[in-house]
Amino acid sequence: MSHLSTVFVTGGAGYIGSHCMVELLNAGYEVVVVDNFVNSVNDPNGESVALKRVESITGKAIAFYECDLLDKGALADIFAKHKIDCVIHFAAIKSVGESMEYPLLYYKNNLIGMLNLLEIMEEFECYQLVFSSSCTVYGEPAFLPITEEHTVGRNITNVYGKTKYFIEEMLRDITHANRKWNIVALRYFNPLGAHSSGLIGEDPIKPFANIMPLISQVAMGHLPVLTIFGGDYNTEDGTGIRDYIHVMDLASGHVAALNLLHKSHQHFKASAGGMSIVVEHLSISIARLSLTIAILQVYNLGTGEGVSVLQLVKTFEKVTGTTIPYKIAERREGDISVMYANAELASQELGWKSKYTLEEMCSDFWRWQTMNPNGYRQKTTKMTN
Ligand code: NAD
Repeated sequence: MSHLSTVFVTGGAGYIGSHCMVELLNAGYEVVVVDNFVNSVNDPNGESVALKRVESITGKAIAFYECDLLDKGALADIFAKHKIDCVIHFAAIKSVGESMEYPLLYYKNNLIGMLNLLEIMEEFECYQLVFSSSCTVYGEPAFLPITEEHTVGRNITNVYGKTKYFIEEMLRDITHANRKWNIVALRYFNPLGAHSSGLIGEDPIKPFANIMPLISQVAMGHLPVLTIFGGDYNTEDGTGIRDYIHVMDLASGHVAALNLLHKSHQHFKASAGGMSIVVEHLSISIARLSLTIAILQVYNLGTGEGVSVLQLVKTFEKVTGTTIPYKIAERREGDISVMYANAELASQELGWKSKYTLEEMCSDFWRWQTMNPNGYRQKTTKMTN
């Protein structure tokens, strides 16, 4: 195991975090997890239901603390108890609609949470970080497939996306100011699916913001009809196009990012030259004839394939044998018409590629849903399909 052997994970009880935990534990990492359950389910003992199941999938233990990132003192206490080598920062609130209604809540939770974490990391001299960013930082794409070089921060249509962009800027600045920082930001496209065991999946506390839980609710008969926003986009079937990626592919992307942080310091990597990176600041020291480039390394995590909402619905129906009644509604303000990734950089530099198909995203999610019709909030029941 590398020297980055103990990973501190924020928001690890959530959807992506809990799936990532399976990959981290299987790769031999020790994990220390914090979550405040603002969007994940706890049991009567204050433990995460999802993480208990991760322990049973992997046969490994997780050190868990219920902790709000806004409570810096509590965060410091946990750092004092463990020798943390590296951090993966998932914790954030993420509903686009809610962020437009309550911008201060989003700025406070996502930005102050990040600031507290960075200050504590600095205090405890832990400078290795993987940050959960999002393709929302690109705004409406100027070209497709979208590469990491595409401009960010312009035309971001919602407050949630702005918090991701502002944090990326913050990370660029600290990387520039202090070369000890070694940071990778992963820009996720649209995660779907669940672990193949059917034991863990997506079960938010806040209203569903992602499409697959909604499709599933319709398939289960819990919702009468799926509403698809926008049927008049300039796409083959008129619905929006996204780059859906299996959540277990995202999970393996984090292990690849940790390997990269271990192998090469992102700050110095650029000075080797010839690599296709996003260069943010440049300084040249004439006396030592050396070139120092301060970078924030960013990677798209997507499949590179654009799939329309209607194509997703049809695939779900085919794979699960269900019927999804749907209606087309007006476009929502701020929704992007077509977005899919160029994921070549992650392939070249992280050695990572997505491997799961759209069919597997649907069948794995359906297994989770049918084994757990009420998510984590009820005893596991038998699969019905
Ligand atoms: P999630 O809501 O399932 O998980 C986030 C977890 O963070 C939750 O368990 C929540 O309780 C916790 N949390 C939030 N604020 C906290 C705080 N102040 N202190 C402690 N815990 C806190 O979301 P997810 O889908 O797993 O997303 C994980 C990360 O990935 C987020 O940063 C999100 O913005 C980002 N992301 C998600 C998507 C997506 O579609 N799911 C896409 C791109 C980026």
